[in-house]
Amino acid sequence: MFEKSTWIRLPRNVVVGHGVIDQVVDVIDDLQLQGRPLFVTSPTPREVAAEPIVTAFEATGVEPAVVTIEKATFDAVERVIETANAEDVSYLVGIGGGKAIDIAKMASYHLEMGFCSVPTAASHDGIVSNRGSVPDGDTRHSVAAEPPLAVIADTEILANAPWELTTAGCADIISNYTAVMDWRLAHRLKNVEYSEYAAALAEMTAEILVDNADLIRPGLEESAWVVTKALMSSGVAMSIAGSSRPASGAEHLFSHQLDRLAPDAALHGHQVGVGSIMTAYLHGGERGIWRDIRNALASIDAPTTADGLGIDDKTVIEALTTCHEIRDRYTILGDGMDERAAREVATKTGVID
Ligand SMILES: [Zn+2]
Repeated sequence: MFEKSTWIRLPRNVVVGHGVIDQVVDVIDDLQLQGRPLFVTSPTPREVAAEPIVTAFEATGVEPAVVTIEKATFDAVERVIETANAEDVSYLVGIGGGKAIDIAKMASYHLEMGFCSVPTAASHDGIVSNRGSVPDGDTRHSVAAEPPLAVIADTEILANAPWELTTAGCADIISNYTAVMDWRLAHRLKNVEYSEYAAALAEMTAEILVDNADLIRPGLEESAWVVTKALMSSGVAMSIAGSSRPASGAEHLFSHQLDRLAPDAALHGHQVGVGSIMTAYLHGGERGIWRDIRNALASIDAPTTADGLGIDDKTVIEALTTCHEIRDRYTILGDGMDERAAREVATKTGVID
């Protein structure tokens, strides 16, 4: 008796390219979203992206409500929900980097309203995925959220974002290699549900990015194109899997733990990249692919050491030995690393010296 079923939720419109910010009104029209939108943005994206979109909407006789958030917190989510209710809006648009989009995504999930994503930085795969993450005290919560109905990614705007945000997006994609290794391991050992399609797509996305590493250079719109398409593809892999497994393994646990131990020290993508070097070593030993991962990161200017992250060695070791406790996600870290073993992997891979 066959009893499996799956429900794959994907964005309906994905628009990427030069100047596509001018098409936001058309994309919303195409989705047949009616009524008033609520824009969720942060200070810089407000200027470069949200204001022109407000003007475009006003020209059609629709006046969007706007909330500008400074920090990604649960309070900010609350504020967006309150504004949505008070202003009688019917859908949300997140315009900005990770922060604004995560907040809009989580608020729309709570409000049971549609949500569109207009990223202004290609810094992580949250711009397409159906998960949001927000710091809460000294922890970070990854929670269920709405996948966007549409993603509108203007490569001209993305290319002008700070370069380190783009390299962080690349590193987040490169970490798919180890995320998929952890997923397979968890499938074999713990019977975790596994999708061959999602795993293959996540790996292939990382491979294409690494193959195109030469194109990834500061200020080049082509770079924004390559990275954004990879982030979309990674998001689709997560949608097919119905979980973040294809793009999130032990290297993500390591990064989440760094967020608690050294808040705001480094970007998410950069932390997972360094984590990925070490967990690749744990998977494959000396002859594994850890060097390929390290070289790929180095070739796109992403950090490969604790120093490069601006995080001290002790904190790296502490994160390695404790991050398995963060959530119930089986990875190569098993029930936790011994401190000497952690020091050894970090030293052998050159993450610490
Ligand atoms: Zn990530």
